[in-house]
Amino acid sequence: MNDSPNALCFGSNLPAAGAPCRVEVSSAGLRVELPDLPAEAISFTGLSVTAGGFDQDQLVVKWTHGGVERTAYLKDPAVITAFRQAAPPDLMPHLERTAAHVRRARSGRRTLLAVAVGSVIGLLLILWLGSDALVRMAVTHIPVEWERSIGDATRGQFLAGQQVVKEGPAVAAVQEITQRLAEQIPNNPYTFEVTVVRSDVVNAFALPGGYVIVFTGLLKKADSPDEVAGVLSHELNHVVLRHGLERIVKTLGIVAVVTIFVGNQEGLVGLAKQLGIELATLKFGREQEMEADLQGLRLLHRAKIASDGMIHFFERLSESDKLQVELLSTHPMSAARAERLKAAAATLPKQEPVPFGFEWKAVQAGL
Ligand SMILES: [Zn+2]
Repeated sequence: MNDSPNALCFGSNLPAAGAPCRVEVSSAGLRVELPDLPAEAISFTGLSVTAGGFDQDQLVVKWTHGGVERTAYLKDPAVITAFRQAAPPDLMPHLERTAAHVRRARSGRRTLLAVAVGSVIGLLLILWLGSDALVRMAVTHIPVEWERSIGDATRGQFLAGQQVVKEGPAVAAVQEITQRLAEQIPNNPYTFEVTVVRSDVVNAFALPGGYVIVFTGLLKKADSPDEVAGVLSHELNHVVLRHGLERIVKTLGIVAVVTIFVGNQEGLVGLAKQLGIELATLKFGREQEMEADLQGLRLLHRAKIASDGMIHFFERLSESDKLQVELLSTHPMSAARAERLKAAAATLPKQEPVPFGFEWKAVQAGL
């Protein structure tokens, strides 16, 4: 049973600022659960109802229990609806008037809110047009659930033309590496889903919401699972840092920002879908790469995985076949980047890496 508070109660023995309480509606009346007090049952005949609250958008229920006057402010639409359905007919005319009042207050406030939000957005746009601050602010307003819709849609589009490796040692190995890393991400709101694609392309990327795509070409090129872990740690941090969303909002511009601020999930997902496959190969900015590098390095360390794998892999690739490697075109390994990574790695405390539960050579042999 869900017994989280859905109303605010006032009365003696309760704080002056009100106490969060839970109101349950039944055909007999209300049952009110108050913090640290016995639950109170009130019949419909024993209570009065008015509209109230700062914006007149709440149902205010008053009753007396054991000689003590109490008031509950109901704002949850589900409770208000349940109340209207359960209340006896003689309470109805009054209640309907109150509910109409509440609805009027709500819609009036919505219009006002829309105008206010519009003005604020307009002002922000003037101040920050084209600035990264606006993009970042918009991105922080995107719920993870939207992010997943965007990532899921893009993954679907991308995989339509690909051959997916559904099971086997390679899939298990990539999942194990991802799991080891994900466990060390604090307050991680993402469930990372790994897809291995059969292709000679040497690449891996992560889509918004935590969808990770790894090509068998990358697994064949990697000399050790540490190298794969290095790439994945970097990619997972692009997700955690919401870099993909930043690119999307930046690419789509003002329309995306407004869509986010008015809370239009379908609108944003639709806009992102128009970007389609491009999303999967969006190039990140220099600053984003650095962030993903450094945070990726720390994540490897926390997961007790050798943190030099990533540096080695990129360096090896850039020496051998620069032009054929997609990973390098989206993540160019400049000398400066390698130096900074090495310097950061040197500051981490020494530790003995914990081996993975698979033989890398066997995984590669199965590809
Ligand atoms: Zn990157």
